[in-house]
Amino acid sequence: MAIATETQPQQHKDSSEVSGSAAEQRRWTLNDFDIGKPLGRGKFGHVYLAREKTSNHIVALKVLFKSQLQQSQVVHQLRREVEIQSHLRHPHILRLYGYFYDQKRVYLILEYAPKGELYKELQKCKYFSERRAATYVASLARALIYCHGKHVIHRDIKPENLLIGSQGELKIADFGWSVHTFNRRRTMCGTLDYLPPEMVESVEHDASVDIWSLGVLCYEFLYGVPPFEAKEHSDTYRRIIQVDLKFPPKPIVSSAAKDLISQMLVKDSSQRLPLHKLLEHPWIVQNAEPSGVYRS
Ligand code: ATP
Ligand code: MG
Repeated sequence: MAIATETQPQQHKDSSEVSGSAAEQRRWTLNDFDIGKPLGRGKFGHVYLAREKTSNHIVALKVLFKSQLQQSQVVHQLRREVEIQSHLRHPHILRLYGYFYDQKRVYLILEYAPKGELYKELQKCKYFSERRAATYVASLARALIYCHGKHVIHRDIKPENLLIGSQGELKIADFGWSVHTFNRRRTMCGTLDYLPPEMVESVEHDASVDIWSLGVLCYEFLYGVPPFEAKEHSDTYRRIIQVDLKFPPKPIVSSAAKDLISQMLVKDSSQRLPLHKLLEHPWIVQNAEPSGVYRS
């Protein structure tokens, strides 16, 4: 059983975080938690509200079945997700406090996001106000700047992977498709010191996939549908390749917002607006709540 033997480092309690007790190095087990209501279902299992007994800390416990993970050959992907997400600390990134497993299941101890999925909010409102969209986009840009600084590229930014915290702040969840570029390059090429400039630079290039996705997301926040949507898969593909970007007349969106989107959805990845510049864009400066908290 690959998970049981190879995932050593994070299986101990990070006692400073959840339990608050002395820095004991004891493993988490299901007995450490009171399990509450189901929060949702994923592909490989369920997510429950849970309370860690010693600290009373409320968490979300994601329960995954090993057999299903193995059948779908995503054990490797899960391990990478855990490895990456457990090391990230940012107000707009969902914390992963730790994990444990038994014979049949793997349990991820996650920060609880009480206001649920952003996807549902967007469905409910159809589209967001510019103030709300800009606040979310700025929060995401800050979180992605943080990730990219740690050589982590998310690669799967979309409404389904965003949750809302207790204050209404956005949390990036689901690092299932993320990569650690430094690791990849280290395993690929030995040490970084011998890499030519174009390969060192390719870190930046890779990270720009997240700028594109953020541009798509910004459009979807404001219009309620993603920009390259089409009935046929092949048409969406073509529209993306051609960057067939159109702004419908309704809902009415400011030209500043459209300008920002146009600067992110650029085919040449090196020409996309860098995230720190995005934060200085007039539309963001004028609309985003500096606190990153949107209250409806
Ligand atoms: P899929 O791959 O199909 O998206 P998944 O295995 O990634 O599934 P999640 O999306 O992580 O599963 O979780 C399923 C649902 O549980 C989410 O859509 C959300 O509604 C709820 N949920 C997950 N994590 C949390 C959390 N930390 N706080 C609150 N709700 C959560
Ligand atoms: Mg998910």
